[in-house]
Amino acid sequence: MDRETCLSFDRQDPLTAVREEFVVPDGVIYLDGNSLGALPRQTVSRLNQVIAEEWGDGLIRSWNDAHWIEAPARIGDKIARLIGAGPGEVIVADSTSVNLFKLLAGALRLQSGRHFILTEAANFPTDLYVAEGLTDLLGGHHAVRLVERGQLEAAVDGSVAVLMLTHVDYASGAIHDMRRLTAAAHKYGALVLWDLSHSAGAVPLDLKACEVDLAVGCGYKYLNGGPGAPAYLFIATALQDAMRSPLSGWMGHAAPFAFERDYRPAAGMARQLAGTPPVLSMMALEMAVDLWSGIDQREARRKSMALGDLFIRLVDETCRDLGLEVASPRSAEDRGSHVSLRHKEAYRVMRALIDRGVIGDFRTPDLLRFGFAALYTRYVDVFDAVRCLREVLASRSWERPDYAQRLSVT
Ligand SMILES: *Cc1c(COP(=O)(O)O)cnc(C)c1O
Repeated sequence: MDRETCLSFDRQDPLTAVREEFVVPDGVIYLDGNSLGALPRQTVSRLNQVIAEEWGDGLIRSWNDAHWIEAPARIGDKIARLIGAGPGEVIVADSTSVNLFKLLAGALRLQSGRHFILTEAANFPTDLYVAEGLTDLLGGHHAVRLVERGQLEAAVDGSVAVLMLTHVDYASGAIHDMRRLTAAAHKYGALVLWDLSHSAGAVPLDLKACEVDLAVGCGYKYLNGGPGAPAYLFIATALQDAMRSPLSGWMGHAAPFAFERDYRPAAGMARQLAGTPPVLSMMALEMAVDLWSGIDQREARRKSMALGDLFIRLVDETCRDLGLEVASPRSAEDRGSHVSLRHKEAYRVMRALIDRGVIGDFRTPDLLRFGFAALYTRYVDVFDAVRCLREVLASRSWERPDYAQRLSVT
């Protein structure tokens, strides 16, 4: 596999022109779109317009005139189309962590007599922390049951209120079988909550076909909504009017501007809103989601699988005996859109790569993580990144003492 061949893959790539829709700085090979998606060009002009015209000139009138107030439901419907959900089943609000709290609390209330939130011990920490924080708050009547990945199906029984899982694992990239695990939980009457943070925009999803009850996901990863973008939540239509949010704020009231003394939840997903939406961030997310609506997700998936396969192949071929081990599934069907490599000095190696313009990230204790965002990552980027990795390892240039100093965000 040589560089020329990778360039020819890029010339044949049906998504090659989509890269032009993004700002990718010169001299940077960006392999961290799984953590913070790149900036869509249109977002810059749209946000300037929102600030100058809608906020600057329109002022408070823009809640009505520029349809700001409808943004959470409107953008939710656009995200619904990307994840196989129906209209009115997704709303944009808060962060993934907060949405997890809201949905878990709502689900436990529906499942009285069942005491457990069942999840995987290696789930993303915020999912575990939020679940434990909630069971703590509920005074010890509930508990989080942690099991290993392979034991999940066997651990479901009639005491499980909710099975909560992350579809694509943040560390290894391994994909859970959504349809099968959802069906296994339903057999015992448990509800199923999927965290789609590393899935939406990376792996085609069909929540309806999988009969998923509840889901949350992140706006700033493969969806490219911007740093700290609002998140989204999904509730299957049949459950919506039974689910109550524990954050019963006025934006989820049936009539927020009636200023009634008592809380009455709005119908459908709107009751999942708590407070006023962050309009600037919402508009950035909307631009990014609109960009996705013109993309054939199967094409994007094919490309991201091919990029991951190419990466693993090049690492196998050119980085032997350099202390690396592939920590992700080798079969592309079983993997999301990133590949992790294990190295005992992973943190320092990643710092050296970033200094050379190859941006991935580090996940404790020993993972180098590389994300392949199909919309703007090229085959030649993968080639150049692996060449740089080999050079850093072979020359031991990661040994600079300052690379051992951990920055706050890794
Ligand atoms: C990125 C990610 C989150 C992020 O949660 P925030 O509340 O946005 O910080 C949550 N869960 C998973 C699985 C993630 O990968």
